[in-house]
Amino acid sequence: MTTYDYDLFTIGAGSGGVRASRMASQYGAKVAVAEEHRVGGTCVIRGCVPKKLFVYASHFHEEFEAAKGFGWTVGDTSFDWSTLIANKDREIDRLNSIYIRNLEASNVEIIQSRAVLKDAHTVHLVAEDRDVTAERILIATGGWPHLPSDVPGIEHAISSNETFHLDSLPDHITVVGGGYIAVEFAGIFNGLGVKTTQLYRGEQILRGFDDDVRDMLHEEMVKKGVDVRVESDIAAIEKTSVGFDVTLKDGTSMQTGLVMYATGRRPNVQGLGLEAAGVKLGRNGHVVVDAYSQSSVANIYAVGDVTDRAALTPVAIREGAAFAETVYNNNPIAVDHAIIPTAVFSQPQIGTVGLTEAQALETHGTIDIYRSAFRPMKNTLSGSDEKMLMKLIVDKASQRVVGCHVMGPDSGEMAQLLGIAVKMGATKADFDATIAVHPTAAEELVTMREITETVTAQAAE
Ligand code: FAD
Ligand code: NDP
Repeated sequence: MTTYDYDLFTIGAGSGGVRASRMASQYGAKVAVAEEHRVGGTCVIRGCVPKKLFVYASHFHEEFEAAKGFGWTVGDTSFDWSTLIANKDREIDRLNSIYIRNLEASNVEIIQSRAVLKDAHTVHLVAEDRDVTAERILIATGGWPHLPSDVPGIEHAISSNETFHLDSLPDHITVVGGGYIAVEFAGIFNGLGVKTTQLYRGEQILRGFDDDVRDMLHEEMVKKGVDVRVESDIAAIEKTSVGFDVTLKDGTSMQTGLVMYATGRRPNVQGLGLEAAGVKLGRNGHVVVDAYSQSSVANIYAVGDVTDRAALTPVAIREGAAFAETVYNNNPIAVDHAIIPTAVFSQPQIGTVGLTEAQALETHGTIDIYRSAFRPMKNTLSGSDEKMLMKLIVDKASQRVVGCHVMGPDSGEMAQLLGIAVKMGATKADFDATIAVHPTAAEELVTMREITETVTAQAAE
């Protein structure tokens, strides 16, 4: 019988890799994990966590304004970027230590090195210039920002990675893209007082989200001062003595202090040796896996952003846990990727679960829509005219609530709880039978009685 150095060797100590490694070890496997940057991965080091801290920071100026309506006199305020960065770095260091401690407490060996596959059972540790062998290998290498290569001057642009370490804020920033990261960072920079232009190549930002949410987010972002331009894209970037000259595809140009691209992420597979090991790669280099995260090579598995599923932290964690249960606890679990609640930390925030109106029409044929747009209570005194949106999409035949879309304060928190109801198959009658929590914005979700409109697929064509 062949003996290996490890039962499991995980490449990448991010959300998915850490969870899988710890659980596998707790189930008795001898496990090592290699990490080339910092333990914690994208979410902790340069993603969800520092991003959300930035979002909090960028909200304060609106709070100072709102406070006046409640009788407060707010004195002079100012913002110091370097204080935010230093405090954010301290918190990231703390979380990084916790991740390391948790791995160690679970008896997972941490190897600080880039790891590449030599064959299906052999991993080369670049920093230590040695090879180790493992019965199974888990690819959990995540993703990396993808910037288009066909834009002259693209080397001057930054991605979300660099935003967390800028020496100072520019006077003006141009954010390219219309997805999660672009809308979140446009809101962050604008809230921190940076003049912000967002360029999106398509008709409306946040493709894939419900159209009402997309339209209203665009409107509210503009009201907050973001210059959101759709059907607009950069043709070339040129460095000047004071910043950058940006030429747009429509031939116009503008000056900006910084260009940030948020144009999607690609799996971290370059030079990983996957081809050498015979692992099948799919669209954009994603590792092709089955429902149990097994790749085309029987002893090699992959979880998280390196696979083509949903690029979200809780999904990577769930996939890592399911892998460990399946392989090391004789408890096969296929993660259910349907109905994933998600939040976009745009300003205003979005919380959503289930189908968009367009998807529901396609799936169910006839749907009832309950829609309510209103001024949240706080804004009756704050002076802000920001609206909140609540939308329930109900399959006419079964009366099941198949989509919930909320935009406004705390909507991310609401999405988590709405996710339980929608996942359980709650009907509109179940929502109606639930007594409201008053006074909250969320109570609207159980008090919308009148159908706003009934739509059928034929009528929509
Ligand atoms: P990662 O967390 O990316 O971990 C992969 C690790 O592998 C990295 O540490 C990397 O250094 C390491 N690695 C790669 N190659 C090698 C190698 N060859 N050898 C050794 N180590 C290697 N998701 C949410 O759910 N909510 C959010 O609010 C949210 N905000 C985000 C904000 C930003 C700016 C970004 C970029 C992402 C955000 N995400 C968010 C997405 C989330 O961060 C990812 O889905 C999640 O981190 C994926 O986890 P993972 O384990 O697949 O990979
Ligand atoms: P997204 O895929 O969400 O958005 C990419 C955007 O860039 C789209 O608007 C896309 O346009 C546009 N784009 C792509 N290529 C080009 C190009 N060549 N030129 C111009 N525009 C282009 O990716 P993000 O980078 O925003 O985020 C990556 C993923 O990370 C998200 O999808 C999400 O899964 C995760 N994430 C989650 C967060 C959360 O949970 N709150 C926060 C941040 C990230 P088009 O629509 O036309 O394709």
